[in-house]
Amino acid sequence: GNRLQGKVVLATAAGQGIGKSTALAFCREGAQVLATDINEQALEQLRGEEPRIEVAVLDVCNPDAIEKLAQERSDINVLFNCAGYVHHGTILDCTPEDWQRSLDINITSMYRMTRAFLPGMLSLGGGSIVNVASVASSVTGVPNRFAYGATKAAAIGLTKAVAADFVGQGIRVNAICPGTVQSPSLDDRIRAQGDYEEIRQSFVARQPMGRIGTPEEIAALAVYLASDESAYTTGAIHVIDGGWCI
Ligand code: NAD
Repeated sequence: GNRLQGKVVLATAAGQGIGKSTALAFCREGAQVLATDINEQALEQLRGEEPRIEVAVLDVCNPDAIEKLAQERSDINVLFNCAGYVHHGTILDCTPEDWQRSLDINITSMYRMTRAFLPGMLSLGGGSIVNVASVASSVTGVPNRFAYGATKAAAIGLTKAVAADFVGQGIRVNAICPGTVQSPSLDDRIRAQGDYEEIRQSFVARQPMGRIGTPEEIAALAVYLASDESAYTTGAIHVIDGGWCI
């Protein structure tokens, strides 16, 4: 396809899961894609699958590295903020370190990336920022997702605030709120909680469609939001959750 012809995309956390599927989908629609992650091996594997993708190691918690990349790359007109971390537990389980880590990866990353790459987008005359939040946020409260839900709600607030400030300058900012989606880290979380089949069944049970979503389904929404097809959409919460929040 060519729905993203002429777009230059930077994606964070593109080494696996939703980020990887989305980077591949962007590429298949004709975008020039810079896929970043902290996992160098995963990036090498991605490059093996799709030689047209450029890859670079980028830690979304490293302000200097982000600044440096932004200085090198003023051509980015789509920013896909996908990095995220799930802390499992209630507020009583959440140590100050867990809380800080959740803030850093889930929300301060979006502040840093947006602040670094927005000036380039403005000088290009516009752009699309797509932030991966979750339905576990201001959309709905989920047990044992205290730090995660709080920081993903902040991601929705950041999305709307930046959208409001730059709506007159060709910048669109949207949030994707997935329900449960198949990914390597979902499998890790299920394994960490005990009996794999039983815990997996409890994740499936939250989803009224009776299944877990695929990263490709989230990628399809991200392609739409990155493309000019969604030109009339900004500051919006795009729920894609298999009916969890009906
Ligand atoms: P994942 O958790 O399996 O993979 C995350 C990727 O992020 C890994 O490749 C990892 O190396 C990278 N990463 C971790 N820390 C990083 C850092 N500091 N800088 C750069 N990269 C870093 O992927 P996923 O489950 O598809 O999740 C992707 C996003 O989608 C996250 O924001 C997550 O919160 C959100 N989300 C996922 C689900 C789900 O069920 N999988 C549901 C709702 C929202």
